[in-house]
Amino acid sequence: MTEQTPDQVHDVVIIGSGPAGYTAAVYTARANLSPIVLAGSVTAGGELMNTTEVENFPGFPEGVMGPDLMMNMEAQARRFGADIRHEDATAVKLDQPIKEITLGSGAVLHSRAVILATGSAYRELGVPGEKALSGHGVSWCATCDGFFFREQEIAVVGGGDSAMEEALFLTKFASKVYVIHRREELRASQIMADRAKANEKIEFIWNSEVTEVHGEGKVNQLALRNTVTGAASTLDVTGLFVAIGHDPRVDLFKDQLQLTEDGTVWVDGRSSKTSLPGVFAAGDVLDPTYRQAITAAGSGCAAAIDVEHWLGAMASSDALEDQMAVQAA
Ligand SMILES: Cc1cc2nc3c(=O)[nH]c(=O)nc-3n(C[C@H](O)[C@H](O)[C@H](O)COP(=O)(O)OP(=O)(O)OC[C@H]3O[C@@H](n4cnc5c(N)ncnc54)[C@H](O)[C@@H]3O)c2cc1C
Repeated sequence: MTEQTPDQVHDVVIIGSGPAGYTAAVYTARANLSPIVLAGSVTAGGELMNTTEVENFPGFPEGVMGPDLMMNMEAQARRFGADIRHEDATAVKLDQPIKEITLGSGAVLHSRAVILATGSAYRELGVPGEKALSGHGVSWCATCDGFFFREQEIAVVGGGDSAMEEALFLTKFASKVYVIHRREELRASQIMADRAKANEKIEFIWNSEVTEVHGEGKVNQLALRNTVTGAASTLDVTGLFVAIGHDPRVDLFKDQLQLTEDGTVWVDGRSSKTSLPGVFAAGDVLDPTYRQAITAAGSGCAAAIDVEHWLGAMASSDALEDQMAVQAA
């Protein structure tokens, strides 16, 4: 482990330890940049720690358990010397040549480059049974889990475009897809709403919300409440897809760099470069569209290569030293 001395300036600090952060760690470690990964004090490994089988990450023909995949990624990054710390970044100063990252312990790291790989949190319903049955019938990702629900009756909660997209995608597998929506009208665009309404496998349950997810080890029923009359009912399904949005984890730095209208970190074209020099982003935190483990990993790779090029350019032009002199003055 690299010991932090007060004057030590690291090449790169990576905040976040999902597929994006660990892939960036593998690449930057193999490029001799001695990355420090702030993996999070209780959430190391990212979203896939909360799931069971992952069947769409290439290289695992029989599938792999989410936590196993993430522990393998961590081990791979460590093998090349990444300094992985199970700590949170609690504050950052990014708009200066040498970035400052304050940790939960109070220690402060200094780094020439930072990769933001903090991911995006899927919104939860917050009802009993939802968490306990996550990965056992409750899902936030049709692309990831639709395949497990062939010829089954399932439900999607939500009324926006992504809920319609999820529902339409799920009709490829399920025998029936209920769309449960709190209101009588969809928020989705007309074209998506029309497509969903025209699909004979989709049935809408209007003015309704899920109040509890039932099942012993696997979802078998939802408890519903009518939002107008208050009447309670149940719906027998084996799967529940929660599609009520997601929140990119940008609180730490949202006031310091440019965001998109989706709330994700803005990056320059296909690169990982944010609006601040030396600050790069990777994974779901910049991605309003794909949000898959493999796209996050690919994006971590891109960020690592961008950091390598950027540090190389800075070193050869002495630009960073000039900026540091300005910062010190
Ligand atoms: C239940 C579930 C099942 C899924 N199944 C699949 C699947 O089968 N296949 C698939 O391809 N995708 C799946 N996904 C999507 C996939 O998990 C995400 O696309 C992917 O994990 C995004 O990777 P990431 O590295 O960008 O972020 P994340 O995996 O979200 O990791 C970000 C990490 O950064 C940490 N972090 C945030 N802020 C800080 C901070 N200040 N300090 C330190 N650490 C911080 C977070 O706590 C987290 O650990 C699933 C998602 C969920 C929720």
